[in-house]
Amino acid sequence: MLGLLGAKCAVLRFVVLVLVVLSASIWWFLLDARAPGEAANLFDVDVYRLLIEDDEDLPTAVRVELVGQDSAPRFAGEAGGGFSQWPLYYTAFQIVSPITTTVIGGAVDDLTAVEISQSPNASFDAEAYARLSASYRTADQIYITHEHVDHVMAITRAKAPEAFADKLRLTTAQIEALPRFAPPGQDLARVLKELTPFDITDPTRIAPGVVVAPAAGHSPGSLVFFVRRNDGAEYLFIGDIVWLMTNIENLSTRPRLLQYMFFSPPEDRETVLAQVRALHDLAKAEPGLTIVADHDGGHIDGLIEAGLLEAQFE
Ligand SMILES: [Zn+2]
Repeated sequence: MLGLLGAKCAVLRFVVLVLVVLSASIWWFLLDARAPGEAANLFDVDVYRLLIEDDEDLPTAVRVELVGQDSAPRFAGEAGGGFSQWPLYYTAFQIVSPITTTVIGGAVDDLTAVEISQSPNASFDAEAYARLSASYRTADQIYITHEHVDHVMAITRAKAPEAFADKLRLTTAQIEALPRFAPPGQDLARVLKELTPFDITDPTRIAPGVVVAPAAGHSPGSLVFFVRRNDGAEYLFIGDIVWLMTNIENLSTRPRLLQYMFFSPPEDRETVLAQVRALHDLAKAEPGLTIVADHDGGHIDGLIEAGLLEAQFE
């Protein structure tokens, strides 16, 4: 009788242990994504503003190209975000001033759009990709927010990158990642291997009304771009620091599991969480500032509707 009781207790202890380990794993891999209670002023818009305070010829147009569209469950972009679908866009941006044009982003090509599709309704817009590719020839400068597969392809898989290579302003970390994104079965074009790095350690003015600042965390080469349009509208392009604007609102980031599945090298999670806190505080302090996350389709649609972004490059 006592022996039977002992065996029952052992089974119970085992079940409890399994439940504890399972709950802890779910919490750690899927739910623990909270930004800290405070963070430094990591995106100091006053510093950015000082750099462009005397600028004339401010940008007259801030345009977006929607190269690919897909959808994914919200919990993938925001831990605990639920099962509803979020419209996931693959984008690039064009900032046009009377004297200079800056393009940010390389988006996906047709092959990549299929490879990384998250839903059956994923689509690729060949005309948008052609406009993005053509925009490099007329741009004065070309940047990327960071060196990930869905932000570089119009550059690394261009048929003739020598036509625009001298306009590329990529950091060492970004350049070092490019060979991974060469056309299938081919080497990266030599001209892209031999780029002169554009490395910055501080916020830097790159065009009238346009400032770039280092923001390593999501990737080693991540950058943010501050823009002031000639009507006073101000923007902060944050790449993939968050995928969803609700991350900033709700002070949470992607589930840890995603980082292991998608990112190589993995994100610097602690830094990203501090950036999310800094963006949350910034959004509160500067309600007129338009923060643009590369993939938040719903938010980008709203900005197009509000006239803050123009759909399609010219
Ligand atoms: Zn990314």
